[in-house]
Amino acid sequence: MKPCKVCNKLTRSKYGICKRLPECLSAYQKACYNAHAEAYRAGSLKFYQAHREQILPKQHANYKRRGPVYAAFNSAKNKSVRLGIPFDLTPSTMPVIPSVCPILGIKLAWTEGPRTNNTPSFDRIIPTLGYIPENVWWISWRANRLKCDATPAELMRIAIVVAQKVNAA
Ligand SMILES: [Zn+2]
Repeated sequence: MKPCKVCNKLTRSKYGICKRLPECLSAYQKACYNAHAEAYRAGSLKFYQAHREQILPKQHANYKRRGPVYAAFNSAKNKSVRLGIPFDLTPSTMPVIPSVCPILGIKLAWTEGPRTNNTPSFDRIIPTLGYIPENVWWISWRANRLKCDATPAELMRIAIVVAQKVNAA
């Protein structure tokens, strides 16, 4: 017997929490849920690691079949959870990929192998606003790299200062 973590009355119950009081019961259910959620996550991670070779090509084939816009949708969704930012897109409200980068005017195109300057890149215009329809667009990987998470004021400063230096040289 141990004192219940919530009410301190002696208990033999699992997780060291009794089920006498409503507070105890809800803490017990939470502990039970967490214990299993952890086991479930650990189990699925273990399965993934053991079957990577079979799973990865299937995932890639699935993405290839559904196309790059769907892949971008999916990774944006995961990223929004990871970063804790808004997400309000569906596969059908995803913007289409233009043929030319709206920032640099260079051609947008997919190529086999590693991404290039011209690879389309799904971008949040203002990163903190998240994945909402008004805040997302497709730009070139080069433009996305240059822009990164810079604010308009920072981009202006960079342009002005670099131009001054170039002109002075
Ligand atoms: Zn208790």
